[in-house]
Amino acid sequence: MSAPESEPSRQRAHLWRLPLAVFLVFGLAGLLYVDALLRSEYRERATTQTVQAKALLEGFVRQGASLLHALRSVVETSPSPSSANERFLSFARQVREDAPQLHTLLLLDREGNVRAVFPAGAGGSDLAARLRRSPQHARGIHAAASTGRTVTVALPGVLPDGPGIAIYDPVRDSVSGFVAAVMSHQGIFNEALTGQLQGEFAYQVRDDAGRVIARSPKYPERISSLVTRTVAIPGGGGWMLEVAVPAFAPLLARLLNWTSGLLFLFLVILLVVREQAQSARFAERTRELEALSQSLLEANVRLEERARQIAEANRAKSRFLANVSHELRTPLNAIVGYNALARDGVYGDLPEQVSRVHARIAAAAEHLLTLVDEVLDLAKIEVGRMAVDTQLTDVSSIIDAVVTVVAPMAGAKELQLSTVTDRGLPAIVTDPGLVKQILLNLTANAIKFTERGSITIRVRRDAEAPLERVAITVDDTGIGIASSEHDRIFEEFEQVRPGGRGDSLVRGTGLGLSISRKLARLLGGDVRVASAPGEGSRFTLLLPFGPPKPDAGQEEEPLADRTRDEALAGPTVVDERARSAPGGRVGEMLQPSAASDLDGGRKHD
Ligand code: ADP
Repeated sequence: MSAPESEPSRQRAHLWRLPLAVFLVFGLAGLLYVDALLRSEYRERATTQTVQAKALLEGFVRQGASLLHALRSVVETSPSPSSANERFLSFARQVREDAPQLHTLLLLDREGNVRAVFPAGAGGSDLAARLRRSPQHARGIHAAASTGRTVTVALPGVLPDGPGIAIYDPVRDSVSGFVAAVMSHQGIFNEALTGQLQGEFAYQVRDDAGRVIARSPKYPERISSLVTRTVAIPGGGGWMLEVAVPAFAPLLARLLNWTSGLLFLFLVILLVVREQAQSARFAERTRELEALSQSLLEANVRLEERARQIAEANRAKSRFLANVSHELRTPLNAIVGYNALARDGVYGDLPEQVSRVHARIAAAAEHLLTLVDEVLDLAKIEVGRMAVDTQLTDVSSIIDAVVTVVAPMAGAKELQLSTVTDRGLPAIVTDPGLVKQILLNLTANAIKFTERGSITIRVRRDAEAPLERVAITVDDTGIGIASSEHDRIFEEFEQVRPGGRGDSLVRGTGLGLSISRKLARLLGGDVRVASAPGEGSRFTLLLPFGPPKPDAGQEEEPLADRTRDEALAGPTVVDERARSAPGGRVGEMLQPSAASDLDGGRKHD
């Protein structure tokens, strides 16, 4: 059962998508922001490293140049050319130790011829010879001589390990010529850059003409940007230091940012969607339950209405029965009375055959009268009109009265009738008339359904509640009742026929036990049975010591807003004697005397 979903509620169900989309947009924006931060931080690092590398590079070359200056001063202050050579060589050794980047140191004359070289030996003289032949050398000598200042020239093919530079410093005063130092690019850049950039950044260096003169081994193919700085070289000119920022760097940090961020977003979306689906299911279930409870409520209302109608119909039935019963009593009494008069010979002697007919009429009329009385009792109990007149009562006096009534019946069947009453039983607060009616009924039944043996009436405290109740048991040694019938015999018009429906049964109405139990409950007690076929029966009347509670035994709704007369409809007056004449069924068994009572035809005790 599912209620149709309304348009607004469907719209409400989709409302969660907007915040989720906003969250997604913000999440992606956050990831992009962190990515940009990482990249800019990386670029800043590259810039800082480049600036430091440039300074180191310049310092490196400048240190070489200044040591060359010092060497020149040593040569300048030499007293003679020969001592100048010696001083050059000895100081050159010291300079080389302090600045190993200076590959070779040379002392040159005014024409640029080599006068001394350090380190000496084949390597030194070979380099000197190659330098002497190179056009850059002549250009350097010329420039240094003409300007009188330090000059640096590039040496593309002089050094054995690739390109390099030569620095020329003109010697003035007594000794004319130059001191020169040769440095290989590899020595300079490897020393100064690789250490500084720590292998994190790749670099390349261009000369004045834009040619690449050095490049780190792992120079990247894809570059997102270049950080460039000009490196000034002593004596003019400069190099361009280019540090590459790779396209995806810093790879690890960015990868971590994107994978963890996207994973988090995905998880959040998954959770929200799952939660949403679950709450949609709950909402659906709630709607179903609401619809169910609504239909249950409606069914309940219908049931209540039905119960009210049934109760009303039941009351109407009881009113009808009460009316009819009352109206039947008068003509019935007349029939019983006139029949008795006829049988007594008031209207002359009756032939044998007619007398038998009159006897049958008497029995049938008596039975009918019993039925009418009992129906009337039942109707009164059901409409709550049965009057209960409680008073302090001695139970044994009621037992005596009952015995007086039933003794002739027991005697007629040669059954032994005895009573046993416990000593010290207190008087109880109850309606003695109703108690007597119940006990007469139980005892009459016991006699009716027993052919041989005895009937015992016993009065004692109830074993289950000895301080609250008295238990009056009526035991017989009769036919007994199957346990499957124990409930049925207390229902209206129910009789047990051991041999099936067609079985002949002692004439009865099937109302006695029903009325007895209702009356007992009206008095705050109950009637119970214990019996088995062939083993006799025990009927127990339980009664409270104290007065019955106000609502005891009320099976019907109390007729709160009706008067009792209204409940019994119209001008009908119910004969109160009906209940004080419990001998109805007893009378059935005492037909000859009952038939002579014109007034009621009932045996009053
Ligand atoms: P009635 O006696 O008028 O038939 P009751 O309501 O008094 O109606 O009893 C209902 C049925 O219970 C009886 O018809 C009978 O079958 C059974 N019954 C009652 N008392 C006894 C008893 N003492 N022994 C055996 N059967 C009994």
